[in-house]
Amino acid sequence: MSIRLRGTPASPGVSIGPAFLLNFEEIRVQKRTLRTASEVESELERFAGAIEKTRGELEQISDQLSDVIEGKQLIEVHILLLSDPFIISEVRKQIKDDLVCAEYAVSKVLFDVLERFNAIEDPYLRSRSVDVRDVGRRVIANLLGTEKQALSNLKNPVILVSEDLDPSQTAGLTSKQLLGIVTDLGGSTSHTAILARSMGIPAVVALKNVAENAVPGQVVIIDGIHGEVILDPDADELQYYSELKKRYNTAEAEIALNADSPAVTADGKAVELSANIEFSQEADQVGRFGGHGIGLFRTEFIRLLAPEAEEEEKMHFRAYRHVLQTLNPDPVIIRTLDLGGDKFLDSIPTVEKNPFLGWRGIRICLDRPEKFISQLRALLRAARFGNARIMLPMITGYDQIVQVRDMLDNIAADLDREGIPRGDIPPLGIMIETPAAVLGIDLLLPHSAFVSIGSNDLTQYTLAVDRGSPYVSNLFDSFHPAVIRQINIVVTKCREAGKWVGICGQMASDPLAIPLLLGYGVNELSVPMTLIPDVKEMISVISMNDAESLAEKALVLKSSEEIRRSVLDYVESKYPEIILDEIRRDENYRGS
Ligand code: PEP
Ligand code: MG
Repeated sequence: MSIRLRGTPASPGVSIGPAFLLNFEEIRVQKRTLRTASEVESELERFAGAIEKTRGELEQISDQLSDVIEGKQLIEVHILLLSDPFIISEVRKQIKDDLVCAEYAVSKVLFDVLERFNAIEDPYLRSRSVDVRDVGRRVIANLLGTEKQALSNLKNPVILVSEDLDPSQTAGLTSKQLLGIVTDLGGSTSHTAILARSMGIPAVVALKNVAENAVPGQVVIIDGIHGEVILDPDADELQYYSELKKRYNTAEAEIALNADSPAVTADGKAVELSANIEFSQEADQVGRFGGHGIGLFRTEFIRLLAPEAEEEEKMHFRAYRHVLQTLNPDPVIIRTLDLGGDKFLDSIPTVEKNPFLGWRGIRICLDRPEKFISQLRALLRAARFGNARIMLPMITGYDQIVQVRDMLDNIAADLDREGIPRGDIPPLGIMIETPAAVLGIDLLLPHSAFVSIGSNDLTQYTLAVDRGSPYVSNLFDSFHPAVIRQINIVVTKCREAGKWVGICGQMASDPLAIPLLLGYGVNELSVPMTLIPDVKEMISVISMNDAESLAEKALVLKSSEEIRRSVLDYVESKYPEIILDEIRRDENYRGS
């Protein structure tokens, strides 16, 4: 029977494919029921054979470890576990009584044993569950006749299933290898979601228990539009979603045909529509999707694709030069390192209880300037290859901007002294991501060449809702009146001061948010590259008059439901059929 799960839609589209369970791949297997006595007999034999084969492998390893006493002892323990009478008799019992295949019986017994280990109070004994797991994996691998498949070495594309993802696990993967991503944790603005959108593959996050329920190789359907996942779908479900996938892809292809046309509203107002990118190679595609420059280059991911030994400054320089040269003369907003929160490198401790409220973004850069200086040096050196702008994340006070400006001046002087060519110091802008920055914007603007609203963090910090937590994801809502009003404040103040203002959080590509943002008067929308054609299409059906009155009305509405409803009523007849259809159909859709 199929299992349907609901989570948070994180990247649109529909995918159908085999599950690849990260971290669990080897010990969860598909159930196969035995029908005849001879099948039972042959499964018992297969089990005995796998135990022997595993013992042989372990003995061979033990021989190779003759000088490493500790390692040898560990392997001896594993060999002993292989002959544990309880485990052996339990597996045989399952095969005989429950009529299940050997690998399923082993995985089931393994899970039971691991559960008992987890209940043990003694921490040392409890930690020994890894040995049981290791031995079990080996036996199952021998039964299945497969080696553990590495994610980086996939032969056929898969749907990645995991509790959560570390950026390093997915960096370098392409949409040819991954059909989609589903995770237990994360929110629509967590790094997993951001990566999926940048790859243009569907993703659903915050599913809470998908990793526990999925089985390697089993067919999975991802509906990234509504946030649904179906494990082991039946024939009707497969047919319905194959059609939805076709319909969605056809509509997307039609929209993409207009990639070359500029982003203009129905009444002729041009809108700057640019791309958010995470990897420098993405710059090559921005033109194809019809983007005007880069509104947000998240530089945290650069290290993940570079060889370990690559020198910091060189690595950044190469990435920036490539992006700037590729897009010249269009503007490229390079955001300085925003590590911490849900993006960690080994060099940043992860011990904080509330990392989003802790050592993050500009705070780390100013406290530990070595990496930051390398980044700024690379930026100044690369600036001569195109139209660069620098943007600082997580700004809460003007002194932070002043410090960076001083650093830039000093670095420019250093480079000149060293005779290293550089460009002019690029315009220095800031992200507005905290209520502190909104309420203190008059203090920040004199020091900022431009601003861009980071609605993901602004929502998180305004509503006190962790953007990566599945438990409060229903409260993460950028249409909350408190967020909407702050966006209005920021845009109004920027316009009064004659400063350019963009928005680069996820909200900028939300079909219902676009009329509001245009209505408040943002200069630019910066969206995941793969969504540019959709957003352009939406812009083209909105008139500025309508957008302005919707935006004004939203400032007096009482809840996010009322705000969404008021925009939905307006766009209902205007947006491309497929997208509106899907918004409407979503039972979870707030306010419908
Ligand atoms: C944001 O906070 O809205 C933003 C664009 O930055 P990030 O998602 O990288 O935190
Ligand atoms: Mg942010």
